[in-house]
Formats: sequence, structure tokens, C-alpha cells
Amino acid sequence: MREVICHDCDVAMSKGFMPEHVTGLLQQQTRWYDGEPTARRMGTAIFSNQGVYLLTTYRCRDCGQLKSYADPEE
Ligand SMILES: [Zn+2]
Repeated sequence: MREVICHDCDVAMSKGFMPEHVTGLLQQQTRWYDGEPTARRMGTAIFSNQGVYLLTTYRCRDCGQLKSYADPEE
């Protein structure tokens, strides 16, 4: 398990994630895609499945600073 420290406050940061609205009530963890979208259709970006990472975000309880890591999907 990764321990992330806020370098401004020198305290451990809390693990979390930022949900991404998909459709209706469905939400999923935000992802980071390597490169650029392969196509756009009707305002929607199309991405390949290559180089997809889940974003895990840590928050400092003292100052509120956020720090994100892009981890490969399991
Ligand atoms: Zn802090």
C-alpha cells in the first residue's frame, strides 16, 4: 500500500478517488488515457484501450491539497 505524504504539512494524505459520471446514476473511477483520442463522434471522444490507468487521488486533511497517481487497471 502506497503512503503519500503532503510535503507542505508533512502528514499522511487520505486515499480516495474522483468519480466520473457515466450515465444515469452510474459513476466510475476517473481514468487517464495515454496519448490522444483516436476519434470524435458527435462530441464524444473515442479512446483505445491501450494505456488506460485508474486515477487514485490523495487528499491532505490539513491543507486540502490533492495529489493523483495513474495506476494500471487490474
Ligand atoms: Zn497539506
